[in-house]
Amino acid sequence: MNYYIASCSCGKDSLAMVLRLIKEKKPLDEIVFYDTDMEFKCIYDNWLLLKCYAGRHGIKCTRLEPKCSFLYTMFEKPVNVGKPNEHKGYSWCGGCCRWGTTAKLKALDEYCQAKNAKCYVGIAADETERLIKERKPYKLFPLAEWKMTERECLDYCRDKGISWKENSIDLYDILDRVSCWCCANKNLWELYNIWKYLPKYWERLKELQAKTHRPFKKDCSIFDLEQRFINGYIPKHRKRKNG
Ligand code: SF4
Repeated sequence: MNYYIASCSCGKDSLAMVLRLIKEKKPLDEIVFYDTDMEFKCIYDNWLLLKCYAGRHGIKCTRLEPKCSFLYTMFEKPVNVGKPNEHKGYSWCGGCCRWGTTAKLKALDEYCQAKNAKCYVGIAADETERLIKERKPYKLFPLAEWKMTERECLDYCRDKGISWKENSIDLYDILDRVSCWCCANKNLWELYNIWKYLPKYWERLKELQAKTHRPFKKDCSIFDLEQRFINGYIPKHRKRKNG
């Protein structure tokens, strides 16, 4: 008999997937949430809600975490040991250096493979590149089957009363993706909104920037960006493809 796991980040797509799987009584034994420890608070709130809801349907919920903490890997982990460019930590995660994503996918893959499980993955129907990239025999993509786009996933969750509120603002109104708050994939429009509406997270970004020489964006540190925003720069909204 097959064992079915759903991977859920508690963002709009995977949450819509899990809720619809439960509603349609599809086989689902376990929901797995990978906690980078750098998620927005509302993600943890939604995980708690999901755990209660899934528990009422007899579905097991499991939290996975990285082998080394995010901050250790970012600042302390020895890198290129014995080579001329030996240093500590990979610095910001994102862009072409998505070490957090690599660890997350590896942990989820290993977990599902160890249980010989089928794994539902919440990739929306309009994320065609990711659908091709993540294809593996044991992975299932119900959102694509249902032809649910990212917008429809968000509407589906909101219809069910789910929100991603921080400071009375729903993060999906000011961010393209509710990924790690320190994700270097964030575009300038998202960063401007964090600076403007989520000052506590902006302060945390400044704390991280103070510990690394690498600028957050190409040639632009968090401190540079802050100065530009204070000087009146308001970036245009250009939605990125990957998060
Ligand atoms: S969301 Fe961004 S920071 Fe978090 S693991 Fe993925 S690439 Fe890294």
